[in-house]
Amino acid sequence: MPYSSISRIAIIGAGPSGIAAAKHLRAEEAFEKIDVFEQRYDVGGVWNLTPNTLSKKTPIPQLDPNYEVGKEALSEVRNVAAQASTGSDSSDRFETPMYDLLETNIPKQLMQYADQPFGDDLPLFPKHQSVLDYCKEYAEDVRPLIRFGCQVSEVRRVEEGGQDGSHQCGRWSVTVIIEASQKRQTYDYDAVVVASGHFSVPYIPSIKGLGAWSSSYPGSVMHSKAYRNPHIFTGKKVIVVGNSVSAADIGAQVGKVCKHPLLQSSRSESLFSSPDSVLWKEDISEIMEFLAPEQYDRGVRLADGRIEQNIDAMIFATGYFYSFPFLKIDPPVVTNGSRARDIYQQLFHIKYPTLAFPVLPQRVIPFPTAENQAAVIARVWSGRLTLPPKAEMEAWEKKMLEQRGDGKAMHILNFPEDADYLNMLYDWAASATPRQGHGKDETGMMGTRWDDRRRWMRSQFPAIKKAYAERGEDRFLVRTVEELGFDFEKWKDTQG
Ligand SMILES: Cc1cc2nc3c(=O)[nH]c(=O)nc-3n(C[C@H](O)[C@H](O)[C@H](O)COP(=O)(O)OP(=O)(O)OC[C@H]3O[C@@H](n4cnc5c(N)ncnc54)[C@H](O)[C@@H]3O)c2cc1C
Repeated sequence: MPYSSISRIAIIGAGPSGIAAAKHLRAEEAFEKIDVFEQRYDVGGVWNLTPNTLSKKTPIPQLDPNYEVGKEALSEVRNVAAQASTGSDSSDRFETPMYDLLETNIPKQLMQYADQPFGDDLPLFPKHQSVLDYCKEYAEDVRPLIRFGCQVSEVRRVEEGGQDGSHQCGRWSVTVIIEASQKRQTYDYDAVVVASGHFSVPYIPSIKGLGAWSSSYPGSVMHSKAYRNPHIFTGKKVIVVGNSVSAADIGAQVGKVCKHPLLQSSRSESLFSSPDSVLWKEDISEIMEFLAPEQYDRGVRLADGRIEQNIDAMIFATGYFYSFPFLKIDPPVVTNGSRARDIYQQLFHIKYPTLAFPVLPQRVIPFPTAENQAAVIARVWSGRLTLPPKAEMEAWEKKMLEQRGDGKAMHILNFPEDADYLNMLYDWAASATPRQGHGKDETGMMGTRWDDRRRWMRSQFPAIKKAYAERGEDRFLVRTVEELGFDFEKWKDTQG
């Protein structure tokens, strides 16, 4: 199908990626219809803080990429709510991993969308509520396109001419459950942006004895998705499993109140540590076995043979599966959940390029990446850019597989790969055929291109975050990296 004949587009999700897609697709002024389906009742995706009622009931271990968080627990919760005559708030059903004390891990000047700086009055690393407000402001002009309380339950391919006569001109049939009426509706679209996020389905590894251990000590094991604040860990002996930003951040919060030292278990050395962590944290090796409750008191055996006992709580900050349970195509985009398959440039489905998947890459800066991807999607689907032939896109993925292996490394773009990717997207969008009849605005809506200063800031930000944390409560007064002593011009001089 020629991309220039795309006129009806569905976007799944009104998180930061979905709203960026809506804005750029609308700005392209080439499409008849853009519908955004959002299962919650507001924009902002993970930045909406919710209770953790369902996430707390995640199975342990959790190895199913199609697991619907709280599916079994939901009916239980609804029964309790019905008995208490309180009803249940459906927006709470879609729980997020956001927690009370979360401050961004990215300086606001890097995290922002192209044309919307975070407020001058906000600290360098804003709190989660400020990010949610920021997303709401960004989304304001596309709100009329969003259908809230609508969960996409199925996306199916409809071949030319229709399979059953009812989808004569549709390319994708999108089925939506409307929460308020519990009715299902099916609509036809030419293209679909899958902006449903990838912080929904927790991964908890299978470790010898873990299942039995967690049943013996109910409530002692949780995934970081269910973490909300450190209070319940006061005075407790805690192990945080994982080596991610979340593991470090949650560890730093829990470390303030738990019994010292907080034990942080990972296979490799932690990339993230807070300034005073030596005082309260001990890095330990990987957990190899959860020991039988009959023989040990709440014990685990580590890779180096050490046995730790009397553990009160265990937080698995072990990440999430890629999961698109509504997407019914063959072969499936997700199999074991470690990556998305048949995807070109981390964005377009190779066999069906009318499917796009924003922000699959990890370790990138999500907002500007989503925006630059959206600028490319809009131009490809309006016909101003052309994707390479299928064989070339397949060759791209094959080469990536050879270099990175068939797993999550396919989507991990560590600096400077993330910066290069962002700028590649920008240049790709900028290379589009100019729009006719738009006067000075022939280029259309663009995203962000990182100059040397932004790349430098990106390269420095673990150190920047550390210096920021060292300010203690005064950190909220810091607005710029320069106030923390980071000076781009001086740094440039040292580079010869
Ligand atoms: C703990 C934590 C801390 C983070 N900190 C930062 C940070 O400091 N800075 C930063 O830039 N990023 C951070 N991130 C990354 C964060 O994911 C991105 O900022 C951003 O939220 C990604 O946006 P998204 O739209 O792709 O996904 P999401 O935010 O997950 O939004 C997806 C949306 O799709 C909706 N949806 C899903 N499935 C369906 C369906 N079937 N039907 C309808 N709607 C659906 C969801 O309800 C949701 O609203 C953090 C993430 C986590 C988990």
